[in-house]
Amino acid sequence: MQLLDGKLVAQAVKNELKAKTEALKAQGKKTPHLAAILIGHDGASETYVASKVKTCAEIGFQSTLIRFEADIGEQTLLQKIKELNEDENVDGILVQLPLPRHIHEEKVINTIAAHKDVDGFHPANIGKMIQGQPAYIPATPFGILLLLRHYKIETKGLHAVVIGRSNIVGRPISILLSQNTPTGNCTVTLCHSHTRNLKDLCLQADIIVAALGKPEFLTADMVKEGAIVIDVGITRVEDKTKKKGYALKGDVQFETVAPKCSYITPVPGGVGAMTIAALMQNTFLAAASGEVRG
Ligand code: NAD
Repeated sequence: MQLLDGKLVAQAVKNELKAKTEALKAQGKKTPHLAAILIGHDGASETYVASKVKTCAEIGFQSTLIRFEADIGEQTLLQKIKELNEDENVDGILVQLPLPRHIHEEKVINTIAAHKDVDGFHPANIGKMIQGQPAYIPATPFGILLLLRHYKIETKGLHAVVIGRSNIVGRPISILLSQNTPTGNCTVTLCHSHTRNLKDLCLQADIIVAALGKPEFLTADMVKEGAIVIDVGITRVEDKTKKKGYALKGDVQFETVAPKCSYITPVPGGVGAMTIAALMQNTFLAAASGEVRG
């Protein structure tokens, strides 16, 4: 079993971006600039955004954090996004999800200019991605591809089972793994909460991507010997032995599943770390060249 070390690979991606950013600056070109909007005070969202801002600083990007209270009006938020769309100094815009219930996620995503949509959630980017055209690829699936690429994992012809069909993880990774690319050419089964015989399907899988948000859902009896397991799940589970009062759990029961795998990602230190690196990659592309394919 080999661990797919997201922390290590993310660091390599960040080092490369740092060097490229220094080169841009030396040529007198503008510094890549990410604007992040955070609404309310959700603990996990606070952590994610803080980590994105910190990573921008590490790489040498400019970042702007814009905060609103949870009762912000939808129009005020949309107006702010439109201002950022027009701001030539801003290259990438992200709005941290989830949003308060009274704000329509779809409206917010659709308002971000597609060429600044470094999260890759805008329908124009999703549509282009599906067609294999240059597009910002959503950060988590893009991070998974970067991880597979780094470890030179041959995916051609493999059967991939993706558990979870969300627009930000499950659905895009199922499409990307099926495409005719070096990290694609899989036969993909996309599973969700209405899937029958999930265990049987998983047992047929050469690759399993678990992205359902149910801690330790995937157990050893669902995984065949030699499978590649990518654990996307991150759930805070109460743990009084930890200083913070919680532990982060993936969707995979790591201790029992890992011994059966050829490769597996840990949580934390797997896909989560790669997600931020991929977001930075998208932001660099937005600033540097307008070339948007990962
Ligand atoms: P979501 O809640 O939007 O979607 C969950 C999906 O899982 C749904 O499509 C649902 O049909 C499916 N599902 C739920 N229960 C199921 C079951 N018993 N069997 C089969 N399918 C089932 O979730 P999401 O936003 O895609 O996130 C999934 C997990 O990944 C969460 O833990 C989230 O925190 C994590 N996540 C991690 C990163 C990262 O950077 N590592 C990024 C995004 C999300």
